[in-house]
Amino acid sequence: MRISCPNCAAEYDVPDAALAAGPRLLRCARCEHKFTAALPEGPAEAPPSEAEPPEAGETPPDPAAEPAAAPEAAPPGAAASPPAADPARLAQDRLSDAPASPPDRFALAGWLLTVLVLAFAAYAGFAWRAEVMEAWPPAQRLYALFGLA
Ligand SMILES: [Zn+2]
Repeated sequence: MRISCPNCAAEYDVPDAALAAGPRLLRCARCEHKFTAALPEGPAEAPPSEAEPPEAGETPPDPAAEPAAAPEAAPPGAAASPPAADPARLAQDRLSDAPASPPDRFALAGWLLTVLVLAFAAYAGFAWRAEVMEAWPPAQRLYALFGLA
């Protein structure tokens, strides 16, 4: 917050954090006048939230700038067309996504590959069931389930 020396009116920017713990004794660098500075109000919890309002309060001249802000408020009303353009953009995106079928082809290829791998595994398990059961006896139970043992 901004603190002014009560003796010479010299202004200093004191971090709110420095005053969060409570009032502090400050010494003016210009006139060496000693005075206590504290946050405007509220407990130590408030300072973070109060740190911003003072900045807005330090710009009272802004009311004169409001007329300048008013013209800015008008464009939003005229800016109704951009939102209307968004649906068109979305439609274009969808159209652009439609030709993007290659991913689907890859997905189909991956699915077919998976089926082939599983089919080959099943065939191998059937063709070499004797070797499998010899190398991994517990597999006999598995093959017994399918009546292949
Ligand atoms: Zn002073």
